[in-house]
Amino acid sequence: MKTQQQIDRTARDLDPEVHDSNFMGAKLKSERRYATLHRDYDDPDKLRETAGLIKQHTLEHLDTYLAQAEASFQRNGATVHFAVDDDAVNAKVLSIMNENNAKSVVKSKSMLTEETHMLKYLEENGKEVVETDLGEFILQIDNDHPSHIVTPIVHKNRRGIAKSFEREGLGDYNDDPETITRRARKHLRQKYIDADVGLTGGNFVSAESGRVVLVTNEGNARFCMAANKIHIAVIGIEKLVPTDRDLGLFLNLIGRSGTGQQLTVYNQFIAGPKSKDQPHGPEQTHIIFVDNRRTEVLASDCREILRCIRCGACLNVCPIYRQSGGHAYRSVYPGPVGAVLSPLLAGNRFPELADLPKASSLCGACNEVCPVNIPIPDLLLRLRDKAKREGAKVAMKGTPNLAMWATLCSQPTMWKTALSMGHTMNYIPTELVPHPSAKSWQGARKLPKFQGGEFRKWFKNRK
Ligand code: SF4
Repeated sequence: MKTQQQIDRTARDLDPEVHDSNFMGAKLKSERRYATLHRDYDDPDKLRETAGLIKQHTLEHLDTYLAQAEASFQRNGATVHFAVDDDAVNAKVLSIMNENNAKSVVKSKSMLTEETHMLKYLEENGKEVVETDLGEFILQIDNDHPSHIVTPIVHKNRRGIAKSFEREGLGDYNDDPETITRRARKHLRQKYIDADVGLTGGNFVSAESGRVVLVTNEGNARFCMAANKIHIAVIGIEKLVPTDRDLGLFLNLIGRSGTGQQLTVYNQFIAGPKSKDQPHGPEQTHIIFVDNRRTEVLASDCREILRCIRCGACLNVCPIYRQSGGHAYRSVYPGPVGAVLSPLLAGNRFPELADLPKASSLCGACNEVCPVNIPIPDLLLRLRDKAKREGAKVAMKGTPNLAMWATLCSQPTMWKTALSMGHTMNYIPTELVPHPSAKSWQGARKLPKFQGGEFRKWFKNRK
């Protein structure tokens, strides 16, 4: 099904309560973002510009910064791996586990592991994997997937969650949020203690010091490392920043942009395994830097999207996302960022997702809120053009051929004549309008009465 149809259908079929929660959640976060940023900074746009420049600079010198980060991590005692694609990442995690005879993993939220379907892969290979972010845990027991990159279960309500907990033997039905949280905490506590491996992503990586920075609001990422012997961090190569000093700027922006918090509640800086005189912490730290087509994106004319710090602000302001929710985007990354990133990361599956860039009104709201100043509407247009150039049928379907329109607009005499004759359209029954795309448009809407030419007549008389 085409994205536009899917979005229309999802918006229409969405449970009204889920729609309201989706809409209100996104709206509230946007408002909080605005209030926090503007209360704390005189010129937030300057900050966004600076953050964008730092990220772009890092991307343009990625080879240098990756080598520097590798050396820094090794100095800290961590083992660094590079994985070219999703199969390689999954296989690397499995081989680290097998080498250490590890059977179970506690995992903190990571979009990259969603991208590689890590959970399913490890389970198929006989490992027990437990999601520890509360939202992701609920998705795991429901066999569902995230609909937002920061608040993954925005599409669920507490009654549904209470039923899932009851079904999984986590207590009798009770939809009190505090009870649900307490039950999850009790269940997960034992998992943290028993697991062999803690698996995380990484929000930022400082090339200078070899530090992974993890931001969460639940503190679950730090528990993933507290009792386990092995910590594996799976990190996209675009997550690098040059120095520790840069981290201050990004930490200030990610919380404010995503959820309207001045700072996320838990911010963890991990440099490597525990030292000899430290009583707690993992004995091994493995950093896996993942490409998975990011270098292809870097080589494209849409490379700016790799600046993304996954704050979710563009989803919260997007009128399409607010109406339809994240599942309508049929990809790991929903909303405006997904409409750009997903088709690019799809590689030779690009034609299948080539219509995603059309899931936008091009209103520019995403561009205005992006903390790293990504020109998302421009990138959407570039991708629409790419789809056209590459003849991606899924993107072309239903798109009117604008060649006739272009000729009409570029010939002033023809244009004036068409405008003065345009009112004759009002006498043609709409079902006889010959153009197929106009027909499909009319299926859902009424054609407005044509009133062209009036302004010109009025303007001429004024002269
Ligand atoms: S594109 Fe910008 S606004 Fe959207 S998630 Fe990424 S950093 Fe945030």
